[in-house]
Amino acid sequence: MSVPVFERVALIGLGLIASSMAHAMRRAGLAGEITGHARSAETREIAREIGLVDRVCETAAEAAEGADLVVLCVPVGAMGAVAEEIAPMLKPGAVVSDVGSVKKAVIEAVAPHIPEGVHFIPAHPLAGTEHSGPRSGFAELFDNRWCLIVPANGDIDPDAVARLSALWEGMGAHVDVMDADHHDLVLAVTSHTPHLIAYTMVGVADDLRRVTDSEVIKYSAAGFRDFTRIAASDPTMWRDVFLTNKEATLEILGRFTEELFALQRAIRTGDGDHLHDYFTRTRAIRRGIIEAGQDTAAPDFGRGAARGDKTEPRK
Ligand code: NAP
Repeated sequence: MSVPVFERVALIGLGLIASSMAHAMRRAGLAGEITGHARSAETREIAREIGLVDRVCETAAEAAEGADLVVLCVPVGAMGAVAEEIAPMLKPGAVVSDVGSVKKAVIEAVAPHIPEGVHFIPAHPLAGTEHSGPRSGFAELFDNRWCLIVPANGDIDPDAVARLSALWEGMGAHVDVMDADHHDLVLAVTSHTPHLIAYTMVGVADDLRRVTDSEVIKYSAAGFRDFTRIAASDPTMWRDVFLTNKEATLEILGRFTEELFALQRAIRTGDGDHLHDYFTRTRAIRRGIIEAGQDTAAPDFGRGAARGDKTEPRK
């Protein structure tokens, strides 16, 4: 067993990301003790039942008291209130981090509450599934995925950044550093807008009365099924992502709409060359993702592996 990177780690929020972190930290012996807190008694009870962390606390403040690292694993819109609650309990030299999918808004909400002598180092693991809750986590979630560290407003203690990076690397991730504005734009392209498009496509199928719901489900082809997986993601998390990454998402959506109009025109005018060239370019991007080891080339995304079948999407 390796030496812990942080003696005491507190996880605030005990959903997919926090539970995966707990499993991954235990797998590699990265934390001496892990405390945890979730908002509802139900989630805290499940966490106790499955032994997710060493100590489940009734309040976020109690979980954070005396911790060397506190990681905020709640929806983006809840980060500020949680930071305010735990602030008085943070010990000097402690590191506060988060896993929020948007960075500029989280920094604005959290940084004002961080006391002098505490290091606030926002982060975002680029890994997830459409499942939620304390039972949905697994130790391998971060393996070979990227974790972006987004230092907030000049407070960059190199030692604290190095320790947080070591923790993420110990959990299997590769670490990169990026500024908040750029992070939010990149994620608008790679994650946020695609989610919005998936939500829209599934919503359209649901609204289209000429195709009944049972037909949509019964005959769902691979394209639609992939959209439904993404569109099953947690509504609270994704509401908060769009409310807080407004500018970048709207910019990318504008670009998306223009491209969509061009494709629409190509279909109407029978411009097969345009369609073929476009699809050839997009196919190369898929190949690039596989070559970078960020997805599998197996048909149907290698579905059916036990991992994805363990949990139910939250209703
Ligand atoms: P999740 O499974 O839905 O879990 C969220 C946790 O936060 C739950 O334990 C919930 O408690 C708690 N919580 C919610 N509102 C709260 C509040 N107001 N105060 C205190 N606790 C609260 O979510 P997740 O997927 O782990 O996401 C957590 C964070 O990671 C989000 O910021 C998200 O943007 C980010 N992230 C998600 C993914 C992904 O794919 N899912 C990937 C990367 C980053 P209850 O269970 O008691 O409600």
